[in-house]
Amino acid sequence: MGRHFLQIPGPTPVPDRLQRAMHRQMEDHRSAVFPEFARRILSRLPQVVHQTRGEAFVFPASGSAMWEAALVNTQQPGARLLAPRFGQFSHLFIQTARNLGYTVDVLEEPWGEAPDVARIEAALAADTAHAITGVLLVHNETATGVTSDVAAVRAAIDRAKHPALLYVDGVSSIASLDFRFDDWRVDCAITGSQKGFMLPAGLGILYMSERALALGETVTTPRAYFDLRPMRANNAQGYFPSTPALSLLYGLDEALTMLLDEGMAQVAARHRTLANGVRAAVAAWGLSTCARRAAIASDTVTGVVVPADRDARTVIDLAFRRYDLALGSGLAELAGKVFRIGHLGDMNALTLAAALTGVEMALTDAGIAITPGSGVGAAQAHWRVTT
Ligand SMILES: *Cc1c(COP(=O)(O)O)cnc(C)c1O
Repeated sequence: MGRHFLQIPGPTPVPDRLQRAMHRQMEDHRSAVFPEFARRILSRLPQVVHQTRGEAFVFPASGSAMWEAALVNTQQPGARLLAPRFGQFSHLFIQTARNLGYTVDVLEEPWGEAPDVARIEAALAADTAHAITGVLLVHNETATGVTSDVAAVRAAIDRAKHPALLYVDGVSSIASLDFRFDDWRVDCAITGSQKGFMLPAGLGILYMSERALALGETVTTPRAYFDLRPMRANNAQGYFPSTPALSLLYGLDEALTMLLDEGMAQVAARHRTLANGVRAAVAAWGLSTCARRAAIASDTVTGVVVPADRDARTVIDLAFRRYDLALGSGLAELAGKVFRIGHLGDMNALTLAAALTGVEMALTDAGIAITPGSGVGAAQAHWRVTT
């Protein structure tokens, strides 16, 4: 009874309004009226990331598939790429590129830190032959709760006068954090439907710059399902080359209305305020965040480090079994050391206050000495003056 608290950083809770929008009979996706619907989605997707040039694409796929889609449509076989690795998702992005036959120069960073922009600049400046043709950057490292500075990485690429394309994984940032596709001169940005867009998993969303689109017409990398050429030709007529995920598209249409009605600036401000409350709670518990510095702490997910003699999995297990609260686990090298609180999508101060109450109860049950109510009180104090 009562509601389940899904506080993982994706999938995120699906608002009733979006569930209703998706609950529909199937229809002919080649009908005369379908293009009006498809265009309403494709024309509004760019507004979420402040994109005015280039195009946005939607595939029946998950977010990870868009790593592949972005690369195979813009890079020649065997191309050399540069990527900071600072958590499990940057690791998987690199792994995907390697599995596709690309070479990746990896800049290792401690998990909990953000990419070091000076190192990216130095690596590009040293590459005088311009052998590196792309920089892979995870905007929001969901594994650690660290946000990287895309504008600073763009400035570093410019200072090095390097022509590498800029790829940004925005799976846990787009539609939640401020994302400036044009201003940051991003070439490919990717996301999925189940995080900031508040939908079930199943859609991959890909934003491409004009430069990236032009490369898509010329690169010789083998590609089939993710080939943007038939996708572009069909989209231009308001159709898709294969059967679109209709239910999810109906959800996406409504999610775009919700997000754009709230306004992307307000969406980002809401996530900032909510995150500040969560961080105030973690501090009041006397625990630390996985993000090593306040300046890089994510506004969509917070990794909480448990004391060295405790296992974060116990907290997650107790929260789930006793209080119907799902928390994110520590991934790879963070397993057992960290639990994660997702605070993105369909959230407000009171839903998060309830979730923080559950975290306090699970922490206490797990024998981690915190003062019950301290975190919730600190979050309240913050939200009362900022909401
Ligand atoms: C969730 C996530 C992914 C993976 O997306 P899927 O939809 O699960 O394939 C990739 N990158 C980041 C940063 C994520 O948070």
